[in-house]
Amino acid sequence: MSSATSVIESVIEPVVFRWHEAEITALSPVTPHVRSVRLRCSLAEAYRAGQHVDVRLTAEDGYQAQRSYSIASAQDGSGTLELMIEALPDGEVSGWFSHLAEIGDRVELRGPIGGSFSWDGPDGGPLLLGGGGSGVVPLLAMLRRRAQGWRQIPAALIYSARTRAEAIAVAELERLAEADPNFSLHLATTREPGGKRIDAPLVAEALARIGAPGKVFLCGSNRFVAAASDLILAEGVAPGLIRTERFGA
Ligand SMILES: Cc1cc2nc3c(=O)[nH]c(=O)nc-3n(C[C@H](O)[C@H](O)[C@H](O)COP(=O)(O)OP(=O)(O)OC[C@H]3O[C@@H](n4cnc5c(N)ncnc54)[C@H](O)[C@@H]3O)c2cc1C
Repeated sequence: MSSATSVIESVIEPVVFRWHEAEITALSPVTPHVRSVRLRCSLAEAYRAGQHVDVRLTAEDGYQAQRSYSIASAQDGSGTLELMIEALPDGEVSGWFSHLAEIGDRVELRGPIGGSFSWDGPDGGPLLLGGGGSGVVPLLAMLRRRAQGWRQIPAALIYSARTRAEAIAVAELERLAEADPNFSLHLATTREPGGKRIDAPLVAEALARIGAPGKVFLCGSNRFVAAASDLILAEGVAPGLIRTERFGA
C-alpha cells in the first residue's frame, strides 16, 4: 500500500448547491494552451482560496455539459472571479472556453466546493504547496490570498510543468519569489533539455526554505499527487497535514 493513502483527500461536500448565472468579462492567454476566463458572478465574494466551482454550459438545443474548475483568483472586491482553463485535445468544455467563448457569453456556476482543500491567512502555515500542470491553479489562488496580507507566513511552491512556456503564471510566481523572501518557487520542467520530474532533493530544498510545514496542499494528476505525497512523507512530514486534490488522468 502506498504511504500516500493516509493523506487527506478533498471530498465533494454533500451539499446541494444552486446554479448562479455568470457572464464572461475578460479572456486572455496564460500559456499557449491555457486561457484565463474572468466571470462576473454573485459567487465571486464568497469563496476561499483553493476552492473550485462547477461550470455548466447549455447549448441552444438544451444539451448541457458541466465540469469542475478551480478558482485562480483571490477575492478582490471586483465582483468577478478568474478560472484558468487548459485546452485538452477534443475536450468538450475546455475546447469551448479555449476556442469559442467570447466576452459577454453567459454560463452557470455552482459552488464554491472543496472546503477541506482551501486556505486563508488565519489558517497559518508554513505552507508547502505542490502543483502539477493546471493543478497549480488553486495553489496560485492561495498564494494570491497570502500576498493580500499574510506574506509573513513562509510558503514554498513545488511546481511541475512540461516546459517553462507551459507553466501557468510563471512570471507572476517568479516576481513574487524575487520580491518576497518568505516565498520560494521550485520549478521542475519535465520536457525540456536538462529537465526533470520532482524528486527528493527538490522537496528537501523547498522544506529547507520554510521549515516544518503546518499545511501541505497538493493538486494535479493522480500520478503527480501520488509522487509528491510519497516524497513529502519520506521527508518526515505528518500525513495528517497533507490535503490533496486530483484533476483526473
Ligand atoms: C476539482 C477539479 C478542479 C479542476 N480544475 C481545473 C482547472 O483549474 N483548470 C483546468 O484546465 N482543468 C481543471 N479540471 C479538469 C476539468 O474539470 C475537466 O476535466 C477538463 O477541462 C476536461 O474537460 P473537457 O470537457 O474539456 O474534456 P472531455 O470532453 O471531458 O475530455 C477529456 C479528455 O478525454 C478525452 N476524451 C474524451 N472522451 C473520450 C473518449 N470517448 N475516448 C477517448 N478519449 C476521450 C478528450 O480528448 C480529452 O482530452 C479540474 C477538475 C477537478 C475535478
